[in-house]
Amino acid sequence: MILVTGGAGYIASHTCIELLQAGYEVLAIDNLSNASKESLQRVQKITGKKLTFIKGDIRNEQLMAETFQQYNIAAVIHFAGLKAVGESCAMPLEYYDNNINSTLVLTQAMQAANCKKLVFSSSATVYGNPEKLPLTEDMPLSATNPYGRSKLIIEEILRDLPIADAIKQTNPPWSVALLRYFNPVGAHQSGLIGEDPSDTPNNLMPFITQTAIGRREKLAIFGDDYDTVDGTGVRDYIHVVDLALGHVKAVEKLLSAGGIEGVQAYNLGTGTGISVLEMLNAFAKTNKVKVPYEIVPRRAGDIAACYADVSRAKKELNWQATRQLEDMVKDSWHWQSKNPKGYKN
Ligand code: NAD
Ligand code: UDP
Repeated sequence: MILVTGGAGYIASHTCIELLQAGYEVLAIDNLSNASKESLQRVQKITGKKLTFIKGDIRNEQLMAETFQQYNIAAVIHFAGLKAVGESCAMPLEYYDNNINSTLVLTQAMQAANCKKLVFSSSATVYGNPEKLPLTEDMPLSATNPYGRSKLIIEEILRDLPIADAIKQTNPPWSVALLRYFNPVGAHQSGLIGEDPSDTPNNLMPFITQTAIGRREKLAIFGDDYDTVDGTGVRDYIHVVDLALGHVKAVEKLLSAGGIEGVQAYNLGTGTGISVLEMLNAFAKTNKVKVPYEIVPRRAGDIAACYADVSRAKKELNWQATRQLEDMVKDSWHWQSKNPKGYKN
């Protein structure tokens, strides 16, 4: 059985589908602070398979200890966390508590149960303001906000675990995949599950879809004077189903005979940079919808461009994104237009 923390969330719910379809049993835990249980009902509808759901907070030590006693968990995918950069600047303690404490409680429960195979949701934000592109996993790391710092600190905490195994000669040793996501967009092709931000979105794609559906008057493009193809910011957008499949590959690798030695970081992106205007034009053209926009000043803290070198994930996880920009914009719109109010329909 695979334990999926934050299992009802955007990326996790897509990953649950791919895990179930690959034949894994799934146990999802979520406190539903930023998700609806409906997402997991729909996961079961899409796959025709059952998963086990526990509503709870993974900072709850007793709950986590009991969970590892009750279920035979082979590996954990740890998605649970808070993820809004702006909010993290206003509420750093809540972010450090939720993201770091949850990881400490989880890994302590894992260690006590001798389940030491972990996939962690990291982010391209750990590269800070990149000096060189594309980004390879061994480039310098830094953080520019509490959210990013929480990811960086967790990566560092996890790196200490196999070192302790070596000192104490414990067996089995920790085996950890740090998956550094670039910019997840899109939705399952059924249109039944997708991204459903409960408050104001944080990311470009939900702003585009909510503008297209009429929930917002226009999209604000944050700056057109960057040193990029058309002056707007460039990112490496990745279809969420490709991202979900990357988790299945990471789990397969962790459970394979060779496994992953110690802690290894993997970039999960497409390797291609897309500008805001390119994304907007692709969305409007593919979906034949209008998205009004205006250019506004740069957003504080934004970088001009960011995209991944994805060769390590290809070589070591046998994974590569296959979905194109058209699939990303089509599936994002399919989800939003079928569910104008998200899961509240
Ligand atoms: P999400 O908010 O949809 O999913 C996170 C889930 O965790 C939510 O369902 C929330 O209810 C749950 N959760 C939060 N704290 C919890 C706790 N203490 N106990 C139990 N459940 C808890 O976000 P997402 O976009 O699916 O992101 C998943 C992970 O990927 C996060 O760790 C995020 O930081 C990371 N990530 C996301 C992006 C992105 O752009 N979406 C990029 C890089 C990394
Ligand atoms: N962006 C924008 N308007 C928005 C949201 C985002 O112009 O309403 C731009 C942002 O400046 C960046 C790109 O879209 O260049 C992706 O932003 P997002 O917040 O989705 O991802 P991140 O900046 O965290 O990589």
